Amino acid sequence: MHDARPLPTYLVHRYHGWKATAYAENQSWYRRLAGEGQHPRAMIVSCCDSRVHVTSIFGADQGEFFIHRNIANLVPPCEPDGDRHGTSAALEFAVTALKVAHVIVMGHSGCGGVRGCHDMCSGKAPALEEKSSFVGRWMDILRPGYERVSGIAEEEGRIRALEKEAVLVSLENMTSFPFVAEAMEAGLLTLHGLWLDIGEGRLEQYSPGTAGFVPI
Ligand SMILES: [Zn+2]
Repeated sequence: MHDARPLPTYLVHRYHGWKATAYAENQSWYRRLAGEGQHPRAMIVSCCDSRVHVTSIFGADQGEFFIHRNIANLVPPCEPDGDRHGTSAALEFAVTALKVAHVIVMGHSGCGGVRGCHDMCSGKAPALEEKSSFVGRWMDILRPGYERVSGIAEEEGRIRALEKEAVLVSLENMTSFPFVAEAMEAGLLTLHGLWLDIGEGRLEQYSPGTAGFVPI
């Protein structure tokens, strides 16, 4: 027996509300989506943070985005070692099977994962250094980013810069996957880096020309 219980009542109510309204009004569209399969044009890698809501920001419907979320929106380097790599699997499927035209990495303000990485790398979070810490070992991906911002004197500014490094490190790592490099070379795939200020609703994108993030 699996230890799973019935949904909390408030979620059951919300589900029935959706089924009676949004679903009922668009039933034929949902059936077409189910029949035709998915053909998203873009993959988005964003943080698990509950405040990051990419489908709201872009007004996206079901079927438009292939979304992968993980702690601090990180893409690891290509490591074909036979281990379990959820993010790499999602990237592989999006690029090779769905043939998405865009992969967008979206970082955000107040990222707890990035702050944890900052504290770990600056010696303030020994628990995250433990081998048994899943968050700590995941945040190892961002260590090269910490090296690049460690010279910023003010802590909050350093953490904000590290949030943007999480996007840049992920973009760099993505090109280490042969199927990503090949699709880019063939002109079939472009990568994009975004950072969201949650409180201000401000979206910035990485601009290679300025080597920084500029508001959209
Ligand atoms: Zn986050």
